[in-house]
Amino acid sequence: MIKKNCSRCGKNIANARLEAMPETEICVRCSKVVGGEYDVIANPLSDSIDSIDLVRVPRFIAPIRRRKPATATRVAK
Ligand SMILES: [Zn+2]
Repeated sequence: MIKKNCSRCGKNIANARLEAMPETEICVRCSKVVGGEYDVIANPLSDSIDSIDLVRVPRFIAPIRRRKPATATRVAK
């Protein structure tokens, strides 16, 4: 059984997802948040003129950095 952690949030990726798409790098949750792991584009290398050849290209998904939110400076009135 493959085990992978999400490259965005660091949590385990569900086995069902890994079985369905072993090449995935992110979990279902993050995939929804970022709007999908791949962009689907017309293949720039395709020489077909009759049909559009679509390819999936992985998108860059930055890992979440958990930081303390910057404390807002309160201005006294
Ligand atoms: Zn995730």
